[in-house]
Amino acid sequence: MTEQKPNILLIYTGGTIGMIRDFETGALKAFDFKNLLEKIPELQLLDCNIDTVSFKEPIDSSNMNPDYWVQIAEIIEDNYNAFDGFVILHGSDTMSYTASALSFMLENLAKPVIFTGSQLPIGDLRTDAKENLITSIQIASKQEQGKPIIKEVCLYFEYKLYRGNRTTKINAEHFQAFASLNYPDLAESGVHLKINNEYLYRPNLEKALVVRKNLDSNIAIIKLFPGISPEVFQSIFSIQNLKAVIIETYGAGNCTTETWFINMITETINKGIHIINITQCSGGSVIMGHYETSSALKKAGVISGNDITTEAAVAKTMYLLGQNISGKSFKTMYETSLRGEIT
Ligand code: ASP
Repeated sequence: MTEQKPNILLIYTGGTIGMIRDFETGALKAFDFKNLLEKIPELQLLDCNIDTVSFKEPIDSSNMNPDYWVQIAEIIEDNYNAFDGFVILHGSDTMSYTASALSFMLENLAKPVIFTGSQLPIGDLRTDAKENLITSIQIASKQEQGKPIIKEVCLYFEYKLYRGNRTTKINAEHFQAFASLNYPDLAESGVHLKINNEYLYRPNLEKALVVRKNLDSNIAIIKLFPGISPEVFQSIFSIQNLKAVIIETYGAGNCTTETWFINMITETINKGIHIINITQCSGGSVIMGHYETSSALKKAGVISGNDITTEAAVAKTMYLLGQNISGKSFKTMYETSLRGEIT
């Protein structure tokens, strides 16, 4: 019996990767993904069947929002049975947010969804786009006994595969634009493609895919800085319909112990607004109660974001708010790893 080649769906949402330079004028213009195989003949050497679909109007990812997240989720939902893997071409600026959001929206995902993009357009001589695209497709095609090896939302960039909801864009210039500081790389591409099996997410394969499309964006983020005034908190906490606030605190989850601050936090939680403590450090975790400067937050009922990234915290907050769960379960679920986003 001949083995069937995996079917991969390439979804183009926008970003630099889809730009091509007009050799005469030097101007960048959008690339027609329908002709992808003609423009990048190398793709024909891959051991898979590739189909492409594109946003009608591709966007710079700085314009990304939850409606577009739903669009991407629906493309995957509509094509879930027909394809073995999905590669999403996306601008790098907000790629970690979208990858995080999709990780929560695609419950019981059992196939690879690989986000990638590039720092230079696909048509540039020194482009990083071809390697990122080709290896992402190869990773999405990897199978064992006819079943995908990767069963989660990932981000591939510059020779590394990361768990999507663990990534952050760390550099606007280097080809190595992303990092996953609190979780090991899932794979590394060198002469061989080395998959770190022990770190891969293992979903419950008995359950069918459920696509969660209800996201509530009535949230805010406050980054602490020495000297931040009560007025800043006051104005944010009094936003109409506000449901949750993510506070980026210092180090292991520390903040000022001034009375006005603790009182304001306690009152806000008593009003039913969720407050989530995440660290503004790129690596490491919130440990509330470790220092005196975070004990009061713990007592007030602040939720610990553990070692979650800001991007995943935004996505998880919108997702959990959209599930309409009670205050107590919200805290419990927030502090539980739902898609491998916290340790
Ligand atoms: N501004 C672009 C975007 O995020 C940068 C990129 O494509 O990497 O869409």
